[in-house]
Amino acid sequence: MLIRESKFLAYSVERIADIKNLNAKRYPLNAKSFYLFVCNSIFCILSFGFLCGCQTKQFYTDNRLIMGTIVEVTSPNQEAASIVFNELERIENLLSKYKPTSEIAQLNKLGKLKTSPETFYIIKESKEFWQLSNGAFDITVGPLVDLWGFTDKNYSVPGDGEIKNKLNLVASDKIFLQDSGNVVEFTLSGMKIDLGAIAKGYALDCAVRKLKEKGINSCLINLGGQVYCLGRKFSQPWKIAIKDPRGGKVKGYLELVDKSVATSGDYEQFFVKNNKRYVHILNPKTGYPAEAGVIAVTVIAPDGLTADALSTAIFVLGKEKGEALAKKFKDVEVKITNVQNN
Ligand code: FAD
Ligand code: MG
Repeated sequence: MLIRESKFLAYSVERIADIKNLNAKRYPLNAKSFYLFVCNSIFCILSFGFLCGCQTKQFYTDNRLIMGTIVEVTSPNQEAASIVFNELERIENLLSKYKPTSEIAQLNKLGKLKTSPETFYIIKESKEFWQLSNGAFDITVGPLVDLWGFTDKNYSVPGDGEIKNKLNLVASDKIFLQDSGNVVEFTLSGMKIDLGAIAKGYALDCAVRKLKEKGINSCLINLGGQVYCLGRKFSQPWKIAIKDPRGGKVKGYLELVDKSVATSGDYEQFFVKNNKRYVHILNPKTGYPAEAGVIAVTVIAPDGLTADALSTAIFVLGKEKGEALAKKFKDVEVKITNVQNN
């Protein structure tokens, strides 16, 4: 059995964020609140301690809009937030399909590009996930994501013929990777890639690496619902609240050190037409939104990239096949909420 080693074993994450007041309509983050972040109450208690003279226990929290969502950073180190924001913006400028100057937008436009080593790396990783998931994870869903209106939020249910047409372009095996020179080429005209299911996780890993380079070893980053817990919250693990994807109540807590948590669910980005819910995670085999009986998949992994890509793949595969896929990875924990058991 293939065991995929985690690429960012050294990280530690976790964090505190209260996003309840953010605008859910504008920012997918709030809707994606399967994870609510470390509680106000904890934060307040620590702040109170500081006021009482326990000066070593102060947290700094800051947030910013990046990658179409809110990023929140909490750390005892005042410089952590700006380090994280700068790194996430750098990755966004490289990998966002929404930014016409990014390498991904250029590749989608031209069909062939000599990329940076980083862009090449993430496309290569994506192809590896495509293979491991037997095609459930596929970054070439770009044309279908556009067709359903998930890119510009102008949702519509396409006709079967339109879906079939776009399905011809969904084919990770048609991404040609030339290692010497980092050249990426689509061998079918009209193909487009979308890194929405993997790049946030990768970006978290990059931000954590930057923090560690600067000697910062305690930080909680929440990037639109995907979290990285770097080190500890002083001597304690970071505490992340788990929210019921339907009811909104807190179901429990995770205590994490040097881990990333990602959730893919049907309750964050979707539209309803004729009483049917259409979610933004697509089944690359059918061209329709995934319908594997899953409401939410949460993956806890040592690195953000794995947590991000795996949660999306498992959402498409469903419980049985998804759990089998997860077993191929080291140090990964999966929580699946099915329609029946919610
Ligand atoms: P995940 O499950 O992690 O990913 C789902 C997303 O992956 C879908 O929305 C789709 O884009 C894609 N996808 C669907 N099915 C599959 C599949 N089977 N295999 C692989 N991929 C699939 N949003 C904005 O509104 N404005 C922005 O400017 C913007 N900029 C972004 C920049 C970057 C670099 C990234 C990574 C994301 C950005 N986004 C932006 C958000 C993005 O469009 C998605 O909404 C988001 O990444 C979904 O993440 P998730 O964790 O909710 O779901
Ligand atoms: Mg994902």
